[in-house]
Amino acid sequence: MSQAPYRGRFAPSPTGDLHLGSLVAAVASYCQARAHDGVWLVRMEDLDETRTVSGADQQILNTLARCGMYSDEPVMYQTQADRQAAYQQAHNALRSKGLTYHCVCSRKQLADQAVYPGTCRQRTTRTDTLYSIRLQTTDEVIQFDDGMQGNQQQNLATQVGDFNIKRKDGLFAYQLAVVVDDAAQGITEVVRGIDIMDSTCRQIYLQRLLDLPSPKYAHFPVITDAHDHKLSKQNHAPAITEEDPFTVLRLALHLLQQAVPTPQRRTPKALLEAAIKHWQPDRLRGLAAVPQSAIEAND
Ligand code: GLU
Repeated sequence: MSQAPYRGRFAPSPTGDLHLGSLVAAVASYCQARAHDGVWLVRMEDLDETRTVSGADQQILNTLARCGMYSDEPVMYQTQADRQAAYQQAHNALRSKGLTYHCVCSRKQLADQAVYPGTCRQRTTRTDTLYSIRLQTTDEVIQFDDGMQGNQQQNLATQVGDFNIKRKDGLFAYQLAVVVDDAAQGITEVVRGIDIMDSTCRQIYLQRLLDLPSPKYAHFPVITDAHDHKLSKQNHAPAITEEDPFTVLRLALHLLQQAVPTPQRRTPKALLEAAIKHWQPDRLRGLAAVPQSAIEAND
């Protein structure tokens, strides 16, 4: 049986320049795609316009280019008119199945609830209030075999609850958009950080309802700083714009537990070629977190 050609992606949110944590995501998805002779795409997840920083998309692309990584196809932006139309269509399809409802609950009301209790399921909508749109979940276990973290499962009804597919401010929610985009780009495997793994069952549920294929998933460990916090923009991880690309790429590969011989030519391109040749994602199996400090201390 012939397999679909491998298509992977890196999907940054342009809320600032790349930091080491997001570079690790780019490198992991890139090496995995190239090791499968596959295509690697960049998608700008600029759905949440309230968080987008003007010019950050270009900065991210420049940093990737300095590190020798380029999208094989034009970069997709979630704010493109065609994407918005595609999300609307998916939303309509879910609505026509009778699976969506308006929710007027405030964040404050839900602050103590780990699982959405279904408060608005039966409520008749008042049109004078702002509402989000929630998708009904079912009491069934969804599972997937994660390429790095092994078998994962979740019961959406009891562990997550009905979730938003459209926000109160009118923006489509990440869960809906990511599923529609991964399908539109023909993504065969999603390689991303373990901090997003918890979303995967919701995404598989959406794929089933929308009749879309499910890609494979592989979630690499989160990179933590000296205080055990995930390297992220929220935690003020420094941007890597000014760093030497060879050095920072080598650090990213160390964090990904890769044993890559130093190439003769100390260029990002040569280093990535070596990394792809020696790529061993199995070294990440079952690893949930990697402290950046441990690697730097050994380096
Ligand atoms: N845009 C998300 C982020 O920057 C990634 C989402 C995904 O890979 O599914 O964290």
